[in-house]
Amino acid sequence: MIVYESKLEGEQNQYEKLDGAIRTGRFVRNSIIRAWMDNQIKSRNDAYRYCKTLADNPEVPWAKQLNSQARQAHAERAWAAVERFSRNCRAKVQGKKGYPKFKKYQVRDSVEYKVSGWKLSEDRRYLTFTDGFQAGTFKLWGSRNLHYYQLEQIKRVRVVRRQDGYYAQFLIDHKREESKDLTGKKIGLDVGLNHFYTDSFGQKVDNPRFLRKDERKIKKLQRRLSKTEKGSKNRLKARTKLGRAHLKVSRRRNDWVCKLAQRVIRFNDLVAIENLKVRNMIKNHCLAKSISDAAWYRFREWLEYFGVVYGVPLITVNPSYTSQNCSSCGKTVVKTLSTRTHKCLHCGYEADRDENAAINILQLALKQWATTVGRTECEVSGEIPLCLNLETETNKGTRRKRKSKQ
Ligand SMILES: [Zn+2]
Repeated sequence: MIVYESKLEGEQNQYEKLDGAIRTGRFVRNSIIRAWMDNQIKSRNDAYRYCKTLADNPEVPWAKQLNSQARQAHAERAWAAVERFSRNCRAKVQGKKGYPKFKKYQVRDSVEYKVSGWKLSEDRRYLTFTDGFQAGTFKLWGSRNLHYYQLEQIKRVRVVRRQDGYYAQFLIDHKREESKDLTGKKIGLDVGLNHFYTDSFGQKVDNPRFLRKDERKIKKLQRRLSKTEKGSKNRLKARTKLGRAHLKVSRRRNDWVCKLAQRVIRFNDLVAIENLKVRNMIKNHCLAKSISDAAWYRFREWLEYFGVVYGVPLITVNPSYTSQNCSSCGKTVVKTLSTRTHKCLHCGYEADRDENAAINILQLALKQWATTVGRTECEVSGEIPLCLNLETETNKGTRRKRKSKQ
C-alpha cells in the first residue's frame, strides 16, 4: 500500500459538510464501542451488522447520511481497538491493556471511505463526494501522482482534517520495489540527544538546526496560550496558532528523516538499530527530548519502509548494555552519561562512546541474525552435512593418504 495526499479546495459550506461526515464517522466508532461494552457486540460481523442498525435508527438520522462502506470502515476501526485490548489481555501484558475509549472531538480527525461514496474526475484533478452529506466537488492540490495508477488500485479514500485545512489521502494497492547495488556495508546506529545518530563507522549525523528553532517557537506559543483566559476568543486563536506550529514542525521533521532513512538504506546492505520502546519515549515530558524522540520514531518507521522497498534487512536489538560493553573485548566498562569516550581497561580499546555503542548494536544484530534466520535455513537443507561426509570418504586425496600410511 502506498498513500498519496492532496489538499482539498472548496467552499466553506462544503468543509462544514465534511465536518459532518467526520463527526458521523466518530459517532459510528463510539456507538460500536458502547455496544461492545453493553455486550451487544461480540464479533466483527456483529459490528458490521450494528452499522445497519444505526442507519435504520430514526433517532440518529445522520448515521444514514454517511456512505455504507464508510460506516463499515469506522466499525473496523472500533473493532480493531477492541481486538487490541483483548489481545493484550490474553497475552497478560504488564500495565495498561488499552481498554477502548470513546473518541472526543479534536481538530485532527478523519473519515474513511472505501471504494464508493466518492468519484474522481476524468483528469483526476477533482474529487466529488457522492454520499448523503453532499459535500460536492473539491479541487485537488498536488494530485499529480494519481495519474500513474488505475482507479481499481485506489482501495480507500480518507478525508483528514488538520489545523490548516482538509486533505484527501488515497490508499493505493501497489507494492513498491526498487533495485539497489550491493555496497558490502553493514551499519549500526546509536541514537543520542547530542547527535541524531552515530554510526558504527564513527560518522555522526547532527540534529538539524531547525529542530532547535522550532522548539523555541513552540515554547513561545505555549507560554502565550497559557496566559490567555479559559474559554476566551484569544485562547482559541492561540490554540490554533500552536496547533499550526506543531503541524509545521512535524512536516519539516518528517521530510528530513524520510530523506535520511532512504540514504541509510541505499548505502548499506544491513542496518541495525536499538529497539527503543515508544511508550517510554512518549512518557518523556522534556520538550527537547520529546521532539527528538518523535523524530527518531518517524526515522525508524521510514527505515522499516525503505528496508522492505530496497530489500535491506533492518534488525532491532535490545538496547541494554550497548553503551557499557566494550565492542572490542566484550567486557563491561561502566561509564556515566557525561563520559564521552570509551576507554577499555581490559584490552586498551579506545573510541567515541557512541561509536562503541553503534558497533555493539551491529554485532548484536549480526548474532541475532545468525541464530534466528540462519539456523532455520540450515534445518531446511539438513542433508548437506551428510553429503559432505560421503564426499570426503570417496575422495581420492584421502585414499592416497591412507595408502601412504600403510
Ligand atoms: Zn575491551
